[in-house]
Amino acid sequence: MTPEKIRCDACPVMCYIAPGQTGACDRYANADGRIVRTDPVVMLSHAIESGGRVVPFALRDWDGDPLPADTFVTGIGSGTTYPDYKPAPFIVSSQIEGADMVTVVTEAIFSYCGVKVKIDTDRFLGPEGATIRVGGEPVGHVTTAEYGSQMLSLGGVHHLTGGSKAEGRVTCASMLALCNGEAVEMTIDGGSTVVVQAGRPPVVDGRPERRMRVGCGSATIGMFASQWRGLVDEVVVVDDHITGVVSEHQAGKVLGWEPTGIRIRGHRSTPGRYFRVSEPGLGWGGTKLTDPLEILAPWEARKGARPGLTLLMVSTTGEEFAYYVLDDALVPQPAPLPDSLRATVALIDENCEPSLCTVLFMGGAGGSLRAGVTKNPVRLTRSVQGGVTRLTAGGAETYVWPGGGITFMVDVTTLPKGAFGYVPTPALVAPLEFTLPRADYIALGGHEEAIRDVPRMVAEGGEYPTSGRVEPWPDAAGASPRTPGVLGKVQGP
Ligand code: SF4
Repeated sequence: MTPEKIRCDACPVMCYIAPGQTGACDRYANADGRIVRTDPVVMLSHAIESGGRVVPFALRDWDGDPLPADTFVTGIGSGTTYPDYKPAPFIVSSQIEGADMVTVVTEAIFSYCGVKVKIDTDRFLGPEGATIRVGGEPVGHVTTAEYGSQMLSLGGVHHLTGGSKAEGRVTCASMLALCNGEAVEMTIDGGSTVVVQAGRPPVVDGRPERRMRVGCGSATIGMFASQWRGLVDEVVVVDDHITGVVSEHQAGKVLGWEPTGIRIRGHRSTPGRYFRVSEPGLGWGGTKLTDPLEILAPWEARKGARPGLTLLMVSTTGEEFAYYVLDDALVPQPAPLPDSLRATVALIDENCEPSLCTVLFMGGAGGSLRAGVTKNPVRLTRSVQGGVTRLTAGGAETYVWPGGGITFMVDVTTLPKGAFGYVPTPALVAPLEFTLPRADYIALGGHEEAIRDVPRMVAEGGEYPTSGRVEPWPDAAGASPRTPGVLGKVQGP
């Protein structure tokens, strides 16, 4: 240690930082012999429509524009209170619809955190439970397949701290990149290579995914059976999960579809619904099929098959389709798709939603950071669970899991850009705001002496020199997140 280095104590790493340098996380620096927070505190206002403006902190004689009355202070750039023996960096009073409110603002360090990814695709990404790797390091696993989507679970304390140093470092870096909206390429053992980026289409083995399926094969039959009636004798919707056959399906029966003598190679579930017609893959409907005829056994004349019978085979996205006519030997022969059927295939495609990656950050806010909010931490947990205290992350809505602790999830696209950070313990850093009525805050043992309104907060600054930035609320998916209020009591505008 050289004498001019000073120690940052904002996380357990305890960096000694030389003048003009930043610590290991780049969040704190040594500026003229003082530890400073390098990023501005992000504040949000509906009164700001674009861009944003910088607000100098701790300038008591600042004669700049006053801050908008609806300014909401987020945890982004606010700093941490590690090891949480002191009040949170900013405890801000405000009026929301005439009610006296308090927002406790902090940047939390999450050793217990993960990322849940939903990838809208039927294509086979890898077996359930398979390890997901980034740069060869294990960072998570494949979990359940949901309706038209494959779920991935990344991070978690075991990958962050329970494996090798490289595993923890890569896991942390991967989660940080995903949470900040960057693309991450990952490989799945026994499966595909996928590029994941929040709010963007997944890229599976180099091919951007375009469409999320309209439904399973059975659902597709249910949706479109009436539109095929009279245009074709048989329709098979090829799907890795449930392949549908219209003449046997309940929807076809109700509509009076005649038997065709078709036979499907697969496990028949209920009439017109077949499981496991193929193996999972990157072909038709999430199977490995490139030729859909592989799932057909010889047709049966005694059950309705006849020369000239017409057959449409289509995938659940409408991206793959083929039309056949049975010849004299009852063998399907390819034929051009009639224009009348082309419109029905286009309708499947039109009803598919765009394929996207959704990234949710999940963390446990039930640890020592609660002491920065209240002297009696369990009361904060109860208040959040009871809906009195509203938890937001960078101003974004969160979902708090029922049960013990304060385990929450947030869609990373609803936070301002660059909201997440890290420390090399390794752990992620995420902004948090706890908003509740002032009276409730006092009652749960809050740090009343640390409450300041926004002008005073800006005039006095925080523990570390910093600046602020007022920005418009993020506009994710075309809708502005609501201004935080308190569930069941006061809602923001
Ligand atoms: S990693 Fe960052 S927060 Fe932790 S001690 Fe170093 S500079 Fe401070």
